[in-house]
Amino acid sequence: MTSSRTTELKAQIRDAEARYDALLDAAVDAIIQIDANGHIERFNHAAERIFGYRFDEVKGQNVKMLMPQPYQGEHDGYIKHYVDTGQARIIGIGREVKGLHKDGHTFPIELSVGDVQEGDHKIFVGIIRDISERKLVEKEAAELRESLAHVARVGSMGEMASGLAHELNQPLTAIASYARASKRMLEQPGATPAQYAQTLEKIADQAERAGEIIRRLRGFLRRSGGPREAQDCNAIIRELLTLLEIDFREHPFRLRLELGKLLPMVAADRIQLQQVLLNLVRNAIDAMSEFSSGNEIVISSSADEDTIMISISDCGPGISEDKADLIFEPFFTTKCNGMGMGLALCKTIMRAHGGDLTATNKPEGGACFMLRLPIEKTA
Ligand code: ADP
Repeated sequence: MTSSRTTELKAQIRDAEARYDALLDAAVDAIIQIDANGHIERFNHAAERIFGYRFDEVKGQNVKMLMPQPYQGEHDGYIKHYVDTGQARIIGIGREVKGLHKDGHTFPIELSVGDVQEGDHKIFVGIIRDISERKLVEKEAAELRESLAHVARVGSMGEMASGLAHELNQPLTAIASYARASKRMLEQPGATPAQYAQTLEKIADQAERAGEIIRRLRGFLRRSGGPREAQDCNAIIRELLTLLEIDFREHPFRLRLELGKLLPMVAADRIQLQQVLLNLVRNAIDAMSEFSSGNEIVISSSADEDTIMISISDCGPGISEDKADLIFEPFFTTKCNGMGMGLALCKTIMRAHGGDLTATNKPEGGACFMLRLPIEKTA
């Protein structure tokens, strides 16, 4: 090759490299090129911004300087393993790892790595996105979800308050009239001690009933986010009846239970599970108050090898096809006073339990919500 041809080729290569560098520098993501020994060969502007180093500070250095432990200690091994065996742990896959800034702080990054065969040696190109902001938003969203769960719980408590007043009124009225009856007995002598005892017994029963109502409601509020213990789903469903008595008194509907026998236990937070069921039954009542082809809401429970299933089915209008995907979205509601958080929270709670919540329409009309919970396996 003539020397002028060589000069021309060299100029072309320099030109191509300059264009390549300009291209890398225009990228929003950090792009780092290393050789098969992990030494940095290219480091674009975004990489300088994200990691806080200038290119001349990192050129020729091992790329592991940009990673905190344990990645730092493992990186040389990763490259060697890949070069020797062709087995990729990250190359061509991409994943979330941590980056180490020049000032020593670590931050979450999304890293994807590609390899290129250049003549007889390999180079690796890493594309890095700083996802600190996304992680922060995710964390804030999780916190928000948590506080919304609390708001919804307190909200249901507010709804319950009017029902509670009504519910407590009954035993209190009974206590007052038994007390007046006792006073009358005292004013008109002749009543036997047994008659007094009977009336006082009735007063005690009614006071206990009022206490039970309050105890359950306090438990409902206090124990949210409580421990996951082995729970008997049927017992949880039966317990719910007291809380729902108030709702059913105000509507012409009835609740029927079809509980499977000898169901295995599930690891669950009892109060959260009750909150889910309460929500679903109240939604069923709301739906049936709008339109109803019957008067029954059925809660059934069953189990297969590894799942407990609880369904709540109603005779309401069902869920129209265009809303099927929306009802589990936060803030979706078709009710004028609805918050649209109920089903979103129920689904979140079920997923946090390793289970799920889905909805279907029954062939004969009405909606059916299905809860699934994994059965606790003992080793
Ligand atoms: P909210 O009850 O505040 O509206 P939800 O998240 O509990 O919030 O419910 C969202 C929407 O899903 C309801 O507004 C209603 O349109 C629909 N939905 C829920 N349950 C039923 C049901 N059993 N039958 C028909 N539609 C339902």
